[in-house]
Amino acid sequence: MSALRLGRGDRLVIASHNRGKIAELEELIRPFGIAVVSAAELNLPEPEETGATFEENARIKARAAADGSGLPALADDSGLAVDALGGEPGIHSARWAGPDRDFARAMRVIEERLEAAGARTPQARRARFVAVLSLATPGGETREWRGEIAGTLLWPPRGAHGFGYDPIFLPDGHDRTFGEMTAEEKHGWRPGQTPLSHRARAFARFVADLGVEG
Ligand code: IMP
Repeated sequence: MSALRLGRGDRLVIASHNRGKIAELEELIRPFGIAVVSAAELNLPEPEETGATFEENARIKARAAADGSGLPALADDSGLAVDALGGEPGIHSARWAGPDRDFARAMRVIEERLEAAGARTPQARRARFVAVLSLATPGGETREWRGEIAGTLLWPPRGAHGFGYDPIFLPDGHDRTFGEMTAEEKHGWRPGQTPLSHRARAFARFVADLGVEG
């Protein structure tokens, strides 16, 4: 049997130091009875994200946490890809906020670049959130799952929920930004239904693929 299986009673490291992400992943994993601990709590060092894709960076983080802890580790590499900016900030989404993780500034930078590109209509302001989850085992296996959600960027930002770029992202088919949605609306997940957020969509694939039992 593959070592890439998880179930009730197993322990899993969430390979992240990002509080918003850790909280969302904890909420997604909780119903499955898997005990989680974060890389931040274990004081594991943050590896350098030297990959050129979400997949590569997710794998780097999952592998580092599995090797550092001796436990299976789940990493998320995610970001906002803006069409009019050639997919940027993409894998650099965290970096655009600078060392202080100032997302008010990062959102302003995106808005300035959209204005400079003349992107004023909703059609010109298309973007999508991407999340890739990677699971690594201490034994050396890794596997990835991707989730995406498309939408439009608004200005000014709206809402105080969520984290990062949530207040400027209006998912298709909705009239409130991710920043205006409750956690349940943004990433609530029910077996058999497609969840809304990129991270929850990747998570649903991970659960389906591994046959994780709730
Ligand atoms: P990473 O830690 O390199 O994967 O950085 C991902 C960055 O993308 C985060 O710091 C956020 O800026 C952004 N991001 C990813 N997922 C979300 C989300 O669900 N909402 C808002 N911003 C997000």
